[in-house]
Amino acid sequence: MRRIAIIGSTGSIGRNTVSVAEHLSDRLRVFALAAASSIDRLVSQTAAVHPEVVGIADAARVDEFQKKCRDLGISVPSVVTGPEGLRQIVSAVEVDAVVSGIVGAAGLWPTYSAVLSGKIVALANKEAMVLAGELLKEAARASGACIIPVDSEHSAVDQCLRAGRHSEVRRLILTASGGPFRETPVQRFPEITPEEALRHPTWQMGRRITIDSATLMNKGLEVIEARWLFDMPAAKVDIMIHPQSIVHSMVEFVDGSTVAQLGTADMRQPIQYALTYPERLPSQVPGLDWTAISRLDFSPPDPQKFPCISLAYSSLEMGGTAPAVLNAADEVAVGAFLERKIPFTDIPRIIDATLQAHDLQRADSIDAIMAADAWAREYARNVMTQTVL
Ligand code: MG
Repeated sequence: MRRIAIIGSTGSIGRNTVSVAEHLSDRLRVFALAAASSIDRLVSQTAAVHPEVVGIADAARVDEFQKKCRDLGISVPSVVTGPEGLRQIVSAVEVDAVVSGIVGAAGLWPTYSAVLSGKIVALANKEAMVLAGELLKEAARASGACIIPVDSEHSAVDQCLRAGRHSEVRRLILTASGGPFRETPVQRFPEITPEEALRHPTWQMGRRITIDSATLMNKGLEVIEARWLFDMPAAKVDIMIHPQSIVHSMVEFVDGSTVAQLGTADMRQPIQYALTYPERLPSQVPGLDWTAISRLDFSPPDPQKFPCISLAYSSLEMGGTAPAVLNAADEVAVGAFLERKIPFTDIPRIIDATLQAHDLQRADSIDAIMAADAWAREYARNVMTQTVL
């Protein structure tokens, strides 16, 4: 029996994790749930999996949670609050594995605490590896923590890597759907509107990640994650556009053999893989219907149309706090684009200008990383108020 804590339990990763835990109730026991503000959903999750502890970000919502539990006639778990409560949950001796499903920089501290506590960390929070990949990997080496990715591409790579040794890898190939502008001519890019960019062909996601999927910055961030998760230099991480999103990623080995992971697009698969690792257990996810797959297409991304990809690679080359700066400048630029303050094609320009101006620091503490993050947000905002980039 593996005892798990799900932080960010009411978000999309959290809800899928609860579903996996209910399905594997003889193998997974939910010790703790934590959420920011969706109290009703947290109450129904509590009724479903009976956690011993519940974390609520806002202490003012605790009474409401307890009352709703009593109204439903379910036993009220003990409640912890705020960042300290989260830290208690992820480092609790009763917890074997932490599912890190909190979105954004807010997920960084609890993920780091879980790693310091030597847990199995099923990592869905993107920022943690982008901002603090080196720090997290070093902390994991020291504590014995095992970080297993939940992001579909990285879960795919993890699965493919089991076919050979680390030293036998020639390159990792992350696949990308290509977003809504895969076939849009580059001349049209300056006129792209937020409405067009928010219309993603395959996935329904949050607003920032949807725009990041349109600029392909999302794939750039995934290259950074892959660099740290799998200890691969950036030169060994490639991207291929694959519009069908059936091949979730691939590993090419030195003998020229490529191993790919394919499957239905269902997050419960990578979540369950991370939580039962190194075992595979029967899941609720159907296999592929090969009779419905007529073709699999691949093409390299167009660097003219998607300069965010090369910016992500350069941030890795710069090292230190540069990926944190890239991420923060991107978030500011995407926000401005959504507010119609800048055209689509200014997103990479603002990121580039911010990266160029950054005074590089070592990313050897969360404080140093958060300082770079704050500097980049401020700088990117200032760049936008100037007329010439
Ligand atoms: Mg992904």
